[in-house]
Amino acid sequence: MTIGAIIGYTVLALFLGFIAFLIIRTISARKPKPPESNYVPNDIDDTVVDNLVEAIKHKTITMPNNDQDGSVFLEYQAFLEKAYPLIMKNSTKYVINKYSVIYAFKGTESDSLLPIAILAHQDVVPAPAKDWGFDPFGGEISEGYIYGRGTQDMKGQMISALDGLEFLLREGKKPARSIYFCFGHDEERAGIYGAYEIVKFLQQRDVRFEFVLDEGGAIIDGKIIGINNKVALVGTCEKGYADVTLEVEKLGGHASTPTRRTAVGLMSQAVYKLEKRKMKPFFSEPVKEMFETLAPYMNPLFKFFIVNRRVFGWLLKRVLTIASPFTNCIVRTTIAPTQMFGATTPNTLPPVAKANVNCRINTGETIDDLTNHIKKVVGKNIKVTVRDGASNPSLVSSPDSPAFKMIGKTVYEVFDGFIMAPYPFIATSDSKYYHVLSDNVYRFTPFEKEESDANRIHGVNERLSVNMLKTATQFFIRLYENTCFDDFSVPKRKSLVSNHLY
Ligand SMILES: [Zn+2]
Repeated sequence: MTIGAIIGYTVLALFLGFIAFLIIRTISARKPKPPESNYVPNDIDDTVVDNLVEAIKHKTITMPNNDQDGSVFLEYQAFLEKAYPLIMKNSTKYVINKYSVIYAFKGTESDSLLPIAILAHQDVVPAPAKDWGFDPFGGEISEGYIYGRGTQDMKGQMISALDGLEFLLREGKKPARSIYFCFGHDEERAGIYGAYEIVKFLQQRDVRFEFVLDEGGAIIDGKIIGINNKVALVGTCEKGYADVTLEVEKLGGHASTPTRRTAVGLMSQAVYKLEKRKMKPFFSEPVKEMFETLAPYMNPLFKFFIVNRRVFGWLLKRVLTIASPFTNCIVRTTIAPTQMFGATTPNTLPPVAKANVNCRINTGETIDDLTNHIKKVVGKNIKVTVRDGASNPSLVSSPDSPAFKMIGKTVYEVFDGFIMAPYPFIATSDSKYYHVLSDNVYRFTPFEKEESDANRIHGVNERLSVNMLKTATQFFIRLYENTCFDDFSVPKRKSLVSNHLY
């Protein structure tokens, strides 16, 4: 045999060996055993529906600042206090910054078990009645759906969480663990008067939580990633947020005698460049964790590429960035042009043109990384300013904690065989402030959304099906059963009095 042939065979043998290694790795990624379960669904009556209908009627629209008359929030709280007498009987109420509220429900073993926190925001975005088929604050029911602003975002979740506990208390069941309901009043404006102040208040009193659950996540059809089951995604972190203003000055004047380059032209070019030169995709820790959890359920081809993503990372990233806006946004910082401003009259060259780009920062990057990229792309003639209210990505909670596993078990039980996986929540929520109070901050909305729902949230004809509302109530009942009736996670602590408000 010639030396050339020996080298050729050696290379071939190494190559085949490598492929075999990748295949073995793929095969050895096995599904974990489903959790054991003795779950029996409860009969949920229409009380929860009546409560959501009533909740919708309170026009708790986010106020631009805290000096406005927020009496509608107080009326809303009065309604909650009337609707949930058993919870309130055993809760201490704390009003934070006038309109946010904590109802701290005391468990029977509050001395030795850390409490959990259930978050929800009372506020909703405005809903001009134009184009709605229903009164946005009427709570009308039609063909199995409750219509109204806040049904999905997020009074539906708040009401089902409260109804879940009230249900258990009506049955005479007493949770051992305390449950704090923390309801901010300005989540839709970044939570600076609400959630931020609630967290400060709790931090000053050394309160710690076993886990925190807020809105977020989604239930998606696994087919888009080669999985036959439905997949419930639970946010273990959230992306950062920044509105960035771009500004360019150029001599203004009459539009009949335009200069060679105009402010609007330069601004359009800058925005166009930002669309062409996006920030680099990469797999953040939560995305890797998502892949790890889901890989065993994928079809063989998807599984092969995901399990061996160290080898095929370059290809995977390419595919994910073009496959769908959702897969794109979980692997990179996104920059979306949302506003442009020029002259106020049609025949004037504006001396200034402005644009806003709305940015969501991938876990692992920062506001600085974002602005450096934007400045590099748009060039030095464009002024780049980060507007108030920007936030870096949140910390990341572990998908291996007992709390996460219990949420997963609850999803599996209530949603009949769904798989739960961690992922980076792509929007923002009040929970970003809570990482200082717990290692386990998770984001999940227990609604199986329909395709059109994405446009209805913050849009027209927001709605929630009666069935979904009742299933969400089941979810919370089961979550309390799984996490608040015994100590599911840690050896009992002697006394945690300092970790409680009462
Ligand atoms: Zn929300």
